[in-house]
Formats: sequence, C-alpha cells, structure tokens
Amino acid sequence: MNSPYYRDTWVEIQLDYLKENVLSVRNHLPKDVDIFAVVKANGYGHGDVQVAKTALEAGAHGLCVAFLDEALVLRRNGIDVPILVLGASRPEDAAIAAMHNISLTVFQKEWLEKAMLTLNNQMLSIHVKCDTGMGRVGIRDKQELTEMVGFIEGNRQFVFEGIFTHFATADELNTNYYEKQLHQFTEMVHILDKKPRYIHCANSAASLRFPQMGFNAVRLGIAMYGLTPSEEMSELIPFPLKEVFSLHTRIVHVKKLPPGESISYGATYQTKEEEWIATLPIGYADGWIRKLQGQVVLVDGKEAPIVGRICMDQCMIRLPHYLPVGTTVTLIGKQDSLFISINDIARKLETINYEIPCIISNRVPRVYMKNGEVVEVRNGLLGEKNNWK
Ligand SMILES: *Cc1c(COP(=O)(O)O)cnc(C)c1O
Repeated sequence: MNSPYYRDTWVEIQLDYLKENVLSVRNHLPKDVDIFAVVKANGYGHGDVQVAKTALEAGAHGLCVAFLDEALVLRRNGIDVPILVLGASRPEDAAIAAMHNISLTVFQKEWLEKAMLTLNNQMLSIHVKCDTGMGRVGIRDKQELTEMVGFIEGNRQFVFEGIFTHFATADELNTNYYEKQLHQFTEMVHILDKKPRYIHCANSAASLRFPQMGFNAVRLGIAMYGLTPSEEMSELIPFPLKEVFSLHTRIVHVKKLPPGESISYGATYQTKEEEWIATLPIGYADGWIRKLQGQVVLVDGKEAPIVGRICMDQCMIRLPHYLPVGTTVTLIGKQDSLFISINDIARKLETINYEIPCIISNRVPRVYMKNGEVVEVRNGLLGEKNNWK
C-alpha cells in the first residue's frame, strides 16, 4: 500500500474497530439510554465526519462537539442527528445555532437574556450544565438552577432540552469523589418540576463502570476510539476495546555506518559498532515530537529505536539488519506479533492517551479502512489527490 499523497507517512483509521467499540458499549448499556458520540477535536484526531457517521451506523443517537464551529462542520457534511455543543458559545451566535438545529450548553442567566435579543422567532435547544465538582463551567447553586430553568421554560424562544454534569474522577479506582458529584447532580435533577428530554452525566469511564446509573443518555468519547480512560481502570473494562488509530511511514534512505559516527542535530547519538541507520519522513511538525527520541518503532516485524534528535520533518532509526528503501515502518499499531499502543507513546511522553492522536498533525493524511479496503482519505495537504492503491 502507498500513502495517498507524495510523502509516505499516513494514519490508518479502522472504521470496523470503531463500529465494534460502539456496538460493545451499546450492548453494555440499558436499551433506553442514548449514546452521544463525542467527536470534538476532529474526532480526537481520527476525523470528525467519518467517526460520526460510523458511530451513528453502530447505534449512536447524537453527537457532541466542543464548540459551534465543530458542530457546523458536521451539519455541512449532511449530518442531521442531534448535536450538542459542550463548551461555551457566544450569546450573539445563538441564532446560527438555532438555524442549524444545534443544541447549546448554557450556564449563565445573563447569557439567556443576551441570546433572546438575537433569536427573533427561532427556537434554541438548551442543555443546562451543572458544575458538581469539575470546576470548569456550570451552575453550582440549586437556587440559580431553578431560576435559570424557570427563565428557559417561560420563554418560547428556548427549549429546555437537557441537563448534565461532567465527572472529574470517574476513571479513578477510588469512587468517593465520583459519588459525591453523582449525589450532587441527582439532587439538582430532583428539584426540577418538569424533566428535560436528556439527562446525562456519564463519560466513557462512567458508562463502562456504572452502566445502570439511571439517567437516559451518555457522552461516549475515548472508549469509542478503542482506548481506556485511564491506565488504572484498564482491568475494569468489561469487554475488549480495539484501537482505531495507527501511524505508518516508509524508509526513504538506508546506510551502513562504521562505529563512532554521529546522527542528527547536536550529534547526540554515536554508533557503537557497524550499524544500519534508516531515515524516516516524519518529524515533530507531524506531531512526532522530539521527546520521542529513543522510542522504538516496528520494522520487518521487529523493534527499532529512534536514534538522535527528531527533526522537523524526519528522524532516524537503527535497523535490526539491512532493509531496503520503501520498507513500511509502524510507529503506532501492529506488525506481526508486536504492537505499539497509543498508551505506550503516552507513557513515553508522560501524558494521557487522549493527547496522542490529537497531536498527530493535519499534515499527516488519515486513510479510512473498512473490511481491509480504503474507503476515504482526509487531512493531508492536497485535498484533491487520492491515488491510494
Ligand atoms: C470530552 C468530553 C466527554 C468525553 O469524555 P471521554 O472520557 O472521552 O469519554 C464527555 N463530556 C464532556 C463534557 C467532555 O468535554
């Protein structure tokens, strides 16, 4: 297989795995609980439209994004299911959201007063956000909640469509703080005279661990992409998750060096013996950041370390033996019996798995696979070209 563009570096997205992950969660949850697939940040770097469509095929009911622009991209691509913007929007933009039937998250009464002025006769669907301990956005006070919901329900430009909160520690083994938040949310929901259509609080971690939580919708992000919400809860995952994202490149240069030769900027690596060194066309501008120096990649079914500093567009590896130009190298994913997980890269970078597919930049094309066949290519720089074979 070749990269779809003129440089042999690409991401493969296995849509079949994504579908399986969503189906597994679907079967794990009670039938009357709706799944909102979270596709913010370009589907956690996987591709928003492709992930959205596949998740919907697998039984998701709606979609969540971080801000209004992301929702509009989905609408422009013909997606007509419920979409909720999770973060803050400007009240001036309420009319745009209403026009495209996009639901907004609101947590200030003044926001509603300002939005009213821009809405004319359009109706805006609102999810009220409660801050039960995340400390990010949301109403913290029950009196304030009552007033806001009263204001929404007393105004025919607004539809009180949902109420929700977000957990700060649902992925930790100790559930004390989670239970405190859940209790606070339950109390806030309890004071509402009339319940909205959607009541939701669970992210992936809570959906996997507490499927019988009793509310009627969940917001499913990381698990859909085949990743565990945290390392510590990996033993609590009730079914296998399949990693959807893999990263590949091809050797562009190979040389045999004698002992004592240096590699890359700063000459930080010296060959200790006669070594085969290969050059890869991927670097920190692709999100393969300099801190990954020393990380192994897979080539010819074996491990090979990155040697010397990672450059902006290229890096070097030490091969186990001679291999020709054009040999496929896997930086994330499987080769034969070996597997480099996104979790391995996250551990090396002392961060969480969520961050890794997000930082693999737009410069790297995303190639979408179904049943082993390429069905679509996105990102990369040359939108019009698609010569994948
Ligand atoms: C990102 C996000 C989610 C999804 O969380 P995962 O851990 O990826 O499942 C859910 N709710 C809110 C408010 C979010 O910002």
